[in-house]
Amino acid sequence: MRCPFCGNVDTQVKDSRPAEDHVAIRRRRFCPACGGRFTTYERVQLRDLVVVKSSGRREDFDRDKLERSIRIALQKRPIEPERMDQMISGIVRRLESMGETDIPSKVIGEIVMESLARIDTVAYVRFASVYKNFQAADDFDKFVSELRPNAADGR
Ligand SMILES: [Zn+2]
Repeated sequence: MRCPFCGNVDTQVKDSRPAEDHVAIRRRRFCPACGGRFTTYERVQLRDLVVVKSSGRREDFDRDKLERSIRIALQKRPIEPERMDQMISGIVRRLESMGETDIPSKVIGEIVMESLARIDTVAYVRFASVYKNFQAADDFDKFVSELRPNAADGR
């Protein structure tokens, strides 16, 4: 695995352990060339998913990209990193078990919103506001007020 800091290909695994309730192996790696340390995850990939954008453009599903968008939505929210990883793994498993390799980006967005709504309302609103691309502040306020009754169950 190439070192992300200096590009050296010859890095060492210092530690391997199960993560995310045994759906992944977490490896701590060390680069002897620059002394950099980084972490990799090994996961089962049931199928190679392709994301189909609304423009019709297709691109390989990228878990890291999904994770980045969710991480941004959850920024400074009181959610354990483990919980976030579990949520992301759950989303990927759902996508993989849909029986299709081609998945419209819209479907992914909706599954992410559904998952976020279950763990953090603020993160959900953040993600949804970007995802649905609310242009007018009025729309956003309306969206938030519509959201409130559902958020009242304390989750
Ligand atoms: Zn390095």
